Amino acid sequence: MSGQYEVQEGMLPQILSRRNFLKAAAAAGLMPVALTQPAPAAGAAETTAGGKRFLVGDFEALVIGDGDLGQGDPAAIFNGRSEDEIRAALRDAFLDDRNMTLDQNVLVLRHGERTILFDTGTGGAPIFGDKPGKLVGGLRAAGVEPAAVTDVVISHAHPDHVWGLTDEREALNFPNAAVHLSAVDHAFFGDETNDRHPIVGPFNPLTRAELAAVKDRLNLLKDGQEAVPGVTALAAPGHSPGHMIFAIHSGSETLMLTADLAHHHVMHTRFPDIKLAYDTDPDEMVRTRIRFFDMLATDRLKFIAYHFPYPGIGHLRKNAEGYEWIPASIDTV
Ligand SMILES: [Zn+2]
Repeated sequence: MSGQYEVQEGMLPQILSRRNFLKAAAAAGLMPVALTQPAPAAGAAETTAGGKRFLVGDFEALVIGDGDLGQGDPAAIFNGRSEDEIRAALRDAFLDDRNMTLDQNVLVLRHGERTILFDTGTGGAPIFGDKPGKLVGGLRAAGVEPAAVTDVVISHAHPDHVWGLTDEREALNFPNAAVHLSAVDHAFFGDETNDRHPIVGPFNPLTRAELAAVKDRLNLLKDGQEAVPGVTALAAPGHSPGHMIFAIHSGSETLMLTADLAHHHVMHTRFPDIKLAYDTDPDEMVRTRIRFFDMLATDRLKFIAYHFPYPGIGHLRKNAEGYEWIPASIDTV
């Protein structure tokens, strides 16, 4: 697998701009195959503009989609199950077994003076096609001015979660926000030597640029720390070294935000031990996923998953084989 992502000596381009880097990287064959394939033209639902408003205790919540993220052939992304099993599981769930698409659900919480965003989407980077990059427009359409965002809570420093910290001109999308990010991911993705990492290397120069753009507003999180009042960070390593999920508590309500604990609402629930090509440590991620899946199902916790079908809110139910995701009915306000 690593050969597919190999970064050859001397091929890393100078990071002059987002556009130049991505074009150069794509041309040099540095991007994972799945990301260079065109986004599917049909079959993927458009993200709802504006979003439903609902309550999590005292927080007013809404979910804004950044847009569909094309993944290409699922058999090239998942490891640990046969190609036949992967395709059959998708067909069983009435999904395209050749061209997988993920949503990107950005949770917004508002209470008093605070407007909290969880992750930032792709920032419209062309390598992801023309469907993602809709977050800022979606926020405005929902009446949330980007300048009013006080806090951006980051689950991990992968492109589809942090590249939206800046726009195409590399200006801050959320100029008044503090940025809360795992200290482990900050150290890992901030390390130039990881520009040659077999998995994240091709993306790392641009990710470092994103992190540098917010360096004077960073709050680095440790496991168990409160990011903002009511939002506790929990280390969930494996997908990235510092990947975090969050427990949101307000009043008598709890909503877990599971970020990329599971990417796909069928594949990762039916096969909790399936591995993903983008995991930095796939074995650790499987252990993390199984540990938190057990907690989510046993404690009947409602959660929002970044890449599940919009708005990505539901529960996990254990069954004989693995788990099943049950989308929640949301009480709007
Ligand atoms: Zn992701």
